[in-house]
Amino acid sequence: MKKNARLLYLLTVWTFFTPFSSTATPTLADEENPPAAAPTVTYVLSMPEPQTHYFEVEMQLKNVAAATNAKKNGYVDIKMPVWTPGSYLIREYAKNVEAFTASAGGKTVPSEKIRKNAWRVQSTDDNLTIKYRVYANELTVRTSFVDADHGYVTPAGVFMYHDALKNIPLRVVVQPYKDWKNVATGLEPVAGQSYTYEAADFDILVDSPIEIGNHATFTFTASNVPHSVSMFGDVNYNEKQLAADYKRVCEAAATVVGEHPCKHYTFIVHHIPPGGGGLEHLNSTTLETTRNAYATEANYKRFLSLVAHEYFHLWNVKRIRPVALGPFDYENENYTHMLWLSEGCTSFYQEYILRRAGFHSPESYLNLVASSITDIENQPGTRVQSAAESSWDAWIKGYRPNENSSNTTISYYSKGSVLGTLLNLAILGGSNGERNMDDLMRLLYTEYYKKQKRGFTDDEFRKAAEQVAGRKLDNFFNIGVNSAEPINYNAYFEPVGMQLINVAARTQDGFLGAATTMANGKATISSVRRGSAAYRDGLNVGDEVISVDGFRVGDDLLRFVSGRRVGDKLLVLVNRAGQLRELPVTLTQNPLASYRIEPLSNQTAAQKALYAKWLYIN
Ligand SMILES: [Zn+2]
Repeated sequence: MKKNARLLYLLTVWTFFTPFSSTATPTLADEENPPAAAPTVTYVLSMPEPQTHYFEVEMQLKNVAAATNAKKNGYVDIKMPVWTPGSYLIREYAKNVEAFTASAGGKTVPSEKIRKNAWRVQSTDDNLTIKYRVYANELTVRTSFVDADHGYVTPAGVFMYHDALKNIPLRVVVQPYKDWKNVATGLEPVAGQSYTYEAADFDILVDSPIEIGNHATFTFTASNVPHSVSMFGDVNYNEKQLAADYKRVCEAAATVVGEHPCKHYTFIVHHIPPGGGGLEHLNSTTLETTRNAYATEANYKRFLSLVAHEYFHLWNVKRIRPVALGPFDYENENYTHMLWLSEGCTSFYQEYILRRAGFHSPESYLNLVASSITDIENQPGTRVQSAAESSWDAWIKGYRPNENSSNTTISYYSKGSVLGTLLNLAILGGSNGERNMDDLMRLLYTEYYKKQKRGFTDDEFRKAAEQVAGRKLDNFFNIGVNSAEPINYNAYFEPVGMQLINVAARTQDGFLGAATTMANGKATISSVRRGSAAYRDGLNVGDEVISVDGFRVGDDLLRFVSGRRVGDKLLVLVNRAGQLRELPVTLTQNPLASYRIEPLSNQTAAQKALYAKWLYIN
């Protein structure tokens, strides 16, 4: 993708600089007006007062008049991305920008804001200096932060660009605060120049966050690639053990595609409360976790899952990608139906990788699969929104949940993870264990990333999956991916000799379907499940529950339901916007399922063999 984009740029520039290119012999005019020197862009990033949460950026543009068409236009437009790849929400990074100025030859030139994220600099000069400040006080993996302790740069929210200068090599010079010594980033260091880095184009710059401060760093080699891990935050860990486990996870992840495309790889780890999540990049990732990440086995497994997830993204989504996900439009939503693949199947792989690396036993892996099926089947939205629709609407639904989201949407992570499991089983079953999901990943990587240097369309993905499975996958795509209809799970589990069983007891215990949160001693309804008693009988999100059957309710609403039967009636007194209302509610049956994956009785030898292949049991 980068190579394609660069080639296009070179062609454009070449055409522009050689207007007489149709003439074979150079004319005198050519020789009198040799092509201008190549344009360059250097960003100088400083943080002289980190305690105020400001980054200072100086963007130095050299030899840009021709490339930007400044002479003809009379101006150049400088822009800030509105979102960052991997996090599908318009974040309006320009809201944090102030004090934008432009100068040429030491003299200020006029500039004005022309859109929410764009500034027009009225200059035809070849060399320009743009300065601005960025307020950075939100420490997440998708925003920027600087304080007295450290700085973290999400490049999409800190570095501006010109449309015609996105495909040239860009430089970043970091000027760390006073006694800060360490900079961690996936960018290429420029030899012999301290804290100076180069990106082959703007996409790569945006894809390379930067950590600045006095963080600790340890290193290890995996798949012959040097890896570094930068640790921000006071935290106890056993470096030797951690490095060994990272290596195990990374090498298991690398076996999927079988080729590691990075020269080096950087982990930036923030240990902060509440801690959770990560963002993938081309040859780096930022992980956010708690200071207790390494304290218990359960926490540690969850952390390693996060490592596996973000690391596997270096293949799935950064290189194996839907056509919409790169090169990016930084000013608008980039729509795809396939986040269930890019995110969900990465979630599938995070646990599959841990199984292969020996961190999950076959039984604990099966339990994880069963509980992810339980999660999606217990969410009413799974019968409303398909995985493809969930992907498409990430921008307005997935990233903007409200109190009704669980009734009307399904996460492309959780549904996609289940779909990954099913597709893997469909390929295993269809190929008699000759192939699995790895072969599909490898085919997509080889054909689209390496050969065609582009993303794939929905149809191309389906064809590739069917090719690897050795048969049509109508049920998988038509029902599993593109509809909200129930999935026949057992058709997928049967070839490996297993079945999905709902073990939730069907009792006559009554079910209400409302959850509350406590604030200032008041129990307020926070969600109402579609189809439940609370939903049908009119309890609303936002209602303060005062009493049930005349008894005061605190944080114990469910206590009033326990022991009641299906069909029992409750009289619920609520305060709704200052008005008291009595609502009769008739309890329904508990609709929640609890799935387990269990062996079929009288498994065949073929099923047993396929089961062993599925779960990497030797
Ligand atoms: Zn992800």
